[in-house]
Amino acid sequence: MNAKNKLLGTVYLFFYAFLVLLPIIILLLGPTLPTRPTLLEISVSFGFIGLSMMALQFISSARFKFLNRPFGTDIVYHFHRQMGIASSFFILAHPILLYVVDPRLIEAQNNIQSALRIELGEFAIFLLIIVVWMSEWRQKLKIPYWIWKFWHGILATVMIPMALAHIFIGGTYTNTPLKQAVWIGYSIILTAVLVYTRLIYPIRLMRKPFRVKEVKEERGNVWTVKMEPAGHPGFVFQPGQFGWLTAWRTPFSDSEHPFTIASSAENKQEVQMSIKNLGRFTSRIQTLKAGEKVFLDGPYGNFSIDRYPEAKKLVLIPGGIGITPIMSTLRTMADRGDQLPVKLFYCNILWDDVTFREEVAELEKELNIEVIYVIERPPENWHGESGFLNAQILDKYLDESWKEKGVEVFLCGPAPMMTAVERALLKVGYDEKQVHSERFALV
Ligand SMILES: Cc1cc2nc3c(=O)[nH]c(=O)nc-3n(C[C@H](O)[C@H](O)[C@H](O)COP(=O)(O)OP(=O)(O)OC[C@H]3O[C@@H](n4cnc5c(N)ncnc54)[C@H](O)[C@@H]3O)c2cc1C
Repeated sequence: MNAKNKLLGTVYLFFYAFLVLLPIIILLLGPTLPTRPTLLEISVSFGFIGLSMMALQFISSARFKFLNRPFGTDIVYHFHRQMGIASSFFILAHPILLYVVDPRLIEAQNNIQSALRIELGEFAIFLLIIVVWMSEWRQKLKIPYWIWKFWHGILATVMIPMALAHIFIGGTYTNTPLKQAVWIGYSIILTAVLVYTRLIYPIRLMRKPFRVKEVKEERGNVWTVKMEPAGHPGFVFQPGQFGWLTAWRTPFSDSEHPFTIASSAENKQEVQMSIKNLGRFTSRIQTLKAGEKVFLDGPYGNFSIDRYPEAKKLVLIPGGIGITPIMSTLRTMADRGDQLPVKLFYCNILWDDVTFREEVAELEKELNIEVIYVIERPPENWHGESGFLNAQILDKYLDESWKEKGVEVFLCGPAPMMTAVERALLKVGYDEKQVHSERFALV
């Protein structure tokens, strides 16, 4: 992270902490409430902290580019997930502590207003438990991603107004204009984010469609979709960045998938994505026809050599379909005539499935690059490296001049490979700041 992004990131984090604590700050600044048990006040504070964190979740998931810039999209999604869990603890602590103070505080009331307030609070907590449970257990429960995403959005959108109503109906914490302003402010921000994500953002994408030029089969069950901007100049991206692709539907359907832009960043007239057939959406890619309209939102991500203009050498380590950001990097370097020394460790299970291996051979003639193939199950008479990439293989090809400050390492592949290679890189002497990783899983 460069100094500017570090500063921006720190400012965002402080602002986040300020917004989370704002309801409590206003409470402390406002007129003193009649003395009540400390535990009760702590319980209410936890409820407020949890709710403001939950409300801010809408911002961290809205894919605002200004937020992604300093941290990277994966970190923002990770933050979203961790804050979701943390806020649930605060929110759940609220009724538990109330019960400890006096069980009657959360029991059914005769007074209609109090009864409604308690029921709204309880129902919001019930929805929260479902949201967190579905998110944490999605893969174990084998809930398809798109079903999870649909319900995640709906339940979260219903839950927050209920929690806000729970606070407003109580009255105690909205009894001054300043306190009301905080919660009304939150409600306005939430509504604005929802209008942006559900209406403005899709309309903006609709206005800038892309047209499929060609769909081409590659080695390894991968299909390359070539697209061109339809009636607009396209977008500028850095090699290694990714975009969200919507096909067969409009952007209002909220059904986009993330894929790396595998083409050269120097060619804005054509965007290529190379997509491995792995599931519901990716298995249909090969049926896309030339001339079909698709929608692309991008660019996103920080996995780019352009973020390290001072780099002296590059070590690129793709595994399987993790080659896509690396192809974009190599193609861009070739277009730029960039002769930076590169070592490419390309890991695959089978030699026959090595996507783009013919093009990599062509790029070897243009670039200052040494390519080392690491094949898990190599063919007979194989002369390259076999098995998994490990510290021994890295040491064989990388002398000390390849580990100095200024050598940047880019790693992208399946999760188990990345964990093992990250460990091996540290073992052979790389500083973790030199190692940049891209995981093809945001959630
Ligand atoms: C930054 C990034 C870059 C990527 N680049 C490439 C690439 O260049 N080439 C490539 O083949 N794959 C890439 N992927 C992976 C690709 O996004 C998934 O393989 C694809 O979305 C799976 O969709 P599916 O419906 O075919 O599979 P499914 O079987 O439905 O889903 C498999 C898994 O993919 C993830 N996933 C599914 N749908 C979505 C979605 N809409 N949004 C986010 N995640 C989802 C979920 O974790 C899910 O469990 C990238 C992923 C990320 C995060």
